[in-house]
Amino acid sequence: MDGISPGLRARLLLNRQDFHTAHALGQNFLLDEALLSGLLDLSGVGPEDAVLEIGPGAGVMTCLLADRARRVVAVELDRRLEPILREMLEGKENVRVVFADALKADLGEIMGEPFRVVANLPYYITADAVRKFLGSGYPIRSVHIMVQKEAAERMLARPGEKQWCLLAALAQYYARVRLLAEVPPEAFEPQPHVMSAFLELELYEQRPVRPREEQKFLRLLSAGFAMRRKTLANNLSASFGLSKEAAREALLSAGLDARVRGEALTLEEFCRLSDSMD
Ligand code: SAM
Repeated sequence: MDGISPGLRARLLLNRQDFHTAHALGQNFLLDEALLSGLLDLSGVGPEDAVLEIGPGAGVMTCLLADRARRVVAVELDRRLEPILREMLEGKENVRVVFADALKADLGEIMGEPFRVVANLPYYITADAVRKFLGSGYPIRSVHIMVQKEAAERMLARPGEKQWCLLAALAQYYARVRLLAEVPPEAFEPQPHVMSAFLELELYEQRPVRPREEQKFLRLLSAGFAMRRKTLANNLSASFGLSKEAAREALLSAGLDARVRGEALTLEEFCRLSDSMD
């Protein structure tokens, strides 16, 4: 199949293998090279980069990444794609495919050097994958992911907004989050029922707040969004084993209202509260 474009080659191979996409694995493929090239332009991936791709599928984006990056490792869960990926990536010496669950694999060990993540994510793993990219301590420089538009909006939500949630707080603690493009269902095969968005998370070298004890701050964020209808004082006493009185005092000494709800707090306020709980 030399000389045939990667998009067409993927279609021919999927047909030849009589491949049926698995909805449960979030298999909505992007086979349009023009669209993928535009997304990769937005990502800024270049010849110095080592790139981790989650879920290469039929490998069209993997081919395009291989032409741009120094090295590409693609982690795919579905073994049925092995013969297709083998043919698609023949001759691409800088690509390695690892068959594993990206949520369980040690991605830092697989990469072995600082890396960037690029993926048309299976949507069912979005929140877990983002938390893993951000909180694992892997040397990740940036994350460029296709997600459901609704998930993108959640990660972009600001304190006080209805969608402000743990995922948004974590994303914005670790990274500058930007929506780069909206992508309609028609771009995918098969088409999902929702709009999608290509999101950038540029990991900070200097985070926007610097809690004295990061682990405590992260626990506090989880507690803050744990039970939305309860006050933060209640969540604090449940999660940190504080008496109601001690929880209220911690809030007051951080300059917060004793009846405040966690989901109303900014990152700065969570940081102040964490530092006041020494
Ligand atoms: N990158 C391809 C494309 O754009 O056409 C495929 C994207 S498709 C939305 C998601 C891919 O992730 C599928 O190939 C699916 O099999 C794979 N996948 C699903 N769950 C996974 C997991 N836990 N770890 C790694 N890959 C997974």
